[in-house]
Amino acid sequence: MLRYYVADLHLDSKRPDITRAFAIFLREKAAHADELYLLGDIFEAWIGDDVQPAYLNAIFAELRSLSASGTRVYFQHGNRDFLVGEALAKQLGLQLLDDLHRINTIHGKTLLLHGDQLCMDDQDYQAFRTLVRKPEWQAEFLAKPVSERLEIARQLRAASREQGAMKAAEITDVTPTAVSEMMSREKATLMIHGHTHRPDIHRQQNQNDGVRIVLGDWDSHGWYLEQDDYGSRLFAFKLPAENVLTAELQDSQAAPH
Ligand code: MN
Repeated sequence: MLRYYVADLHLDSKRPDITRAFAIFLREKAAHADELYLLGDIFEAWIGDDVQPAYLNAIFAELRSLSASGTRVYFQHGNRDFLVGEALAKQLGLQLLDDLHRINTIHGKTLLLHGDQLCMDDQDYQAFRTLVRKPEWQAEFLAKPVSERLEIARQLRAASREQGAMKAAEITDVTPTAVSEMMSREKATLMIHGHTHRPDIHRQQNQNDGVRIVLGDWDSHGWYLEQDDYGSRLFAFKLPAENVLTAELQDSQAAPH
């Protein structure tokens, strides 16, 4: 069983380098996997499945062909793309996961989550999360005209940036007690999440608390976790990942005059 996990790509029209690197990752890595897990914040913003920006066309084509070729692709919502719905999932061949998903891996019972629900010290954010995850809020938002949805999304991002800058680092990280409580309640040995942008394999202080693997956000580097029957490996690669064409000779140019 070969699995890949990624999170926090924050795909955005302003970062074509990340979009390209992800396309290459899908073709060269994920295509060989049994399962690919997209653990949230794949998109910097998502205002409804009826609004699909053109810059994602190439990625969507890659995801469709990946799922069609037999790799199972799972999608979990992040705090940016919680409005990804069944329509997009169906279109791309993704399977939507609940906010806490449990699987068995080589390391034992494993919890998959975006990670924002573990940041319990950030009370403003948790209040916001509770609000925007309500079906009524979502239905009301999705019924608004696209221009209005774009404006609300822009305001929310600006507010989140402003608040994030004022908060102490420990507030935007996971709450350690929330981690250990979830691990012991679920009797899990491994947890995999993103969101905090603090990539590492964290061994908990108390050995019984298991291990927490945090995926990195894609920015100057891309990050992915590879997991097979031997273990898990967290990789980072420098962007741009693409091959750069530095010289080209077309056969007509080499032909004698
Ligand atoms: Mn996040």
